[in-house]
Amino acid sequence: MSIKESLLTIKSELPDTVTLVAVSKTKPVSDLEEAYAAGQRIFGENKIQEMTQKWEVMPKDIQWHMIGHVQTNKVKYMAEYVSLVHGVDSLKLLKEINKQAKKHNRVINCLLQMHIAEESTKFGLDKEELDNLITSDVFKTLENVNVVGLMGMATFTDDKNQVKKEFATLKEIFSSLQSIKSTNLDVKILSMGMSGDYKLAMDQGSTMVRIGSSIFGSRNYS
Ligand SMILES: *Cc1c(COP(=O)(O)O)cnc(C)c1O
Repeated sequence: MSIKESLLTIKSELPDTVTLVAVSKTKPVSDLEEAYAAGQRIFGENKIQEMTQKWEVMPKDIQWHMIGHVQTNKVKYMAEYVSLVHGVDSLKLLKEINKQAKKHNRVINCLLQMHIAEESTKFGLDKEELDNLITSDVFKTLENVNVVGLMGMATFTDDKNQVKKEFATLKEIFSSLQSIKSTNLDVKILSMGMSGDYKLAMDQGSTMVRIGSSIFGSRNYS
């Protein structure tokens, strides 16, 4: 299937309540252009340098999502244009995003990444760290960031019950946060689900799926 066909097929499966992030990491600009021509406007990348190079050459109505782990010293390169940062897992990083956003007179939308997988390799906060972060005095002073939801990745396994359980856990935390509102906290996006598990994620209440290989084909890492 072509990129366009894959994209349109997946889009036809998503209800209106679920936003598709086309994960284009490692893929050439020509592939992104094909998806753009088919109507896609939200792209996800996991390396700031690569995302910035693509942002420079692609049409300006694209929303760029940083879905990977963010190094504090690289935030400045995306602060001018990034539309949503999915992988925020510390107050330190949030403070740096706030500082860089301020320089550009913007408010940057962020998702807090939760650790839901059994694997210890995946980044993210646990529930206690999440609570500590959002109730801290420092958090409330960060006027140039807006926490709009949560992101999580399930364990990479064929065990559907485990994946389902992990997504259900994240959804529960998400729901518990929705009642807490402050000036820079308005939890409405639940980013969960990738090519292999987005249907399970949608069953568990995902509002945003991040899909790469099912649209663009498998990635070749050199
Ligand atoms: C690469 C990546 C995806 C997309 O993965 P696919 O399996 O290719 O759909 C989604 N989320 C994150 C955080 C990723 O790094």
